[in-house]
Order: sequence, then structure tokens, then C-alpha cells
Amino acid sequence: MQSSIEINNNTKIVGVIGHPIKHTLSPIMHNYAYKNLNLDYVYLPFDISSIGLHDSLKGMVALGIRGFNVTIPHKERIMEYMDELSDSAKIVGAVNTVVNDNGTLIGYNTDVNGIIKTLEEFKKNIRGKTVSVLGAGGAARSVIYTLINHFKVKKINIINRTVEKAESLKDYFSSKMLFEKIKTYELIPPDVTEILAKSKLIINASSIGMSPDSDDSPTTILESFNKNQIVFDIVYNPQKTKFLALAEEQGALTINGLKMFVEQGAKSFELWTNEMMPTNQILELLSEKDNI
Ligand code: NAP
Repeated sequence: MQSSIEINNNTKIVGVIGHPIKHTLSPIMHNYAYKNLNLDYVYLPFDISSIGLHDSLKGMVALGIRGFNVTIPHKERIMEYMDELSDSAKIVGAVNTVVNDNGTLIGYNTDVNGIIKTLEEFKKNIRGKTVSVLGAGGAARSVIYTLINHFKVKKINIINRTVEKAESLKDYFSSKMLFEKIKTYELIPPDVTEILAKSKLIINASSIGMSPDSDDSPTTILESFNKNQIVFDIVYNPQKTKFLALAEEQGALTINGLKMFVEQGAKSFELWTNEMMPTNQILELLSEKDNI
């Protein structure tokens, strides 16, 4: 393991705000990269409740913090405090990275970059196809935006426990991106088996199966999966979720959420430092840290 970072008078501070924040792998990833590239930065976790969000942003500007990642539950509400927003953050409706440009707070959505980098090698297989997305929270928004904008899919099924949330996403993307080919379903596994089986790509964008609930899966019905499919779980802890294990058993090509996690972090890193994160080394480092 590397030795600790040496803090001095010039060290720039970046970090992540969220609640809870205990389980985040972001400090390990970013601090490893700073050390590796000999950059004078330190990345810290800040546990910020919803009530303290606005004050904490004022404090960060006052302290000259260079930027921060934003995680659950602040990704959507933080938008109102941004001075500027990137195009994708504006359309997705969520910010996961903030740059403090001498007091001007600029909000970005680098989850979109993580999704693009993860699925890029399958672009030709996905284009013009039907995709099912499980979940209708903040991550699902980034996924749906990217599927429409970058991967040019034909049709999207949004499947969620609370079907009203899926419907509200359908209305949102139909008005923001003029994409009309969205269907919504309640997550009742036997009812959606055929919908899933007919999808070229299935993405779990819900938190089902995330540690410590790693025995859960959005569906356990094996007929949902087949060998012609790509199945992507954006959950990265554990790296092989039950959902991915079942899909793999049926011969589907499976992808876990670790690359997305590293690539969203790499884009944030680049926005703060103008340097490239050593993503391959970090993927290797984090692959060894399953089930934290
Ligand atoms: P969120 O906004 O809180 O949404 C959570 C989603 O999961 C909702 O659709 C929710 O359904 C569903 N859900 C949660 N528990 C459930 C349960 N027990 N049964 C059925 N549905 C359930 O969270 P998020 O920001 O979208 O994040 C979702 C997951 O993505 C998290 O695990 C997060 O760690 C992961 N993520 C990974 C990356 C990456 O880089 N790999 C990036 C971002 C997020 P309801 O609408 O019915 O509540």
C-alpha cells in the first residue's frame, strides 16, 4: 500500500459530499491517483445532511475547496445552488461533480461519461435496439439520457418498484429529449420476465443487490436472461451481484459497475486537475477491494 499523502501549504482540497458517506470508495481512488501522479491534492469525504447542504456549499467556496463529488441524497437538489450547469447535467437533472472556479460553482454529470466508457465497445450492438432499465432514481436518469443521446437506442422499458416514478421519468424524457419510445412497468418479476427476455441490453440502475443486501436481485427468474444479451449492473459493491450471477448462468455477457465508477471519477479528476487519472491501475486496485 502507498504511503500517506503529505499535506502542505499549497495542497488543494477536493472531496465528496453525501449522506451517508462511510462506504464510498472515492477517497481511495482519487488519493491513489494524486499520489501516483505526484499531484498536490487531497480528497476527503464530507458527511453532509440535506439540511446542511446550502451552508456547506458556502463554506466550501469560502475555504477555496477546488471541487467535490456529490452523491445520495444531494445530486438533484444541489442543482439550484449551481452558478452554471453543463448541458448533460441540465438535461439529466442531476449533478455528481462540482468545480469551484474561483467562487463560481459549475455542476457536471460525469456518471454519463462513466456509462459511455463502460458500454462504448458495445455501441454497434445496442444502437437501434430495445433496452430495459431497472430503477427510476438519479442513476437511472443518467442511464436513460445516455441511451437516448449517445447510444441511439430504439426503445426503453423503465421498470421500477414505484411505477409512478417510472412514469414521471417517461414524461420528463419525452418533453426534454422528445423521445417517445418509453414504456413503464411495475417491478413484479413474473410480469416483466418476457419484457426483459426480449431486451438486447438490461441495466440494473436501482440499488437492489447492493451490499449489505447482496442476496437481493431485481429478478431471480432465470428466463429473464439469455445468451444474446448484455446485462450491466451499475452496482459495484459487490462486484458480482446476484443479478449478474444469474444472467451469467444463462450465458449473457455481463458487466459490473466498477468501470463506470472509475470512469465517472476519472472525468471529475480531469475537471479539477486537467490531468488524466491512471484508470487501469485504479481498476486493478479496486477490483481487489470487493465487499467493503
Ligand atoms: P436513488 O435515486 O435512491 O434510486 C434508487 C432506485 O432503486 C429507485 O428506483 C428505487 O425504487 C430502487 N430501489 C431501492 N431499493 C429497492 C428495493 N428494496 N426494492 C425495489 N427497488 C428498490 O439511487 P441512485 O442514485 O439512482 O443509485 C442507484 C444505485 O446506483 C446505487 O446502488 C448506487 O450506488 C449506484 N450507482 C453506481 C454508480 C457507478 O458509478 N457504478 C454511479 C451512480 C450510482 P423506488 O423508486 O421504488 O424507491
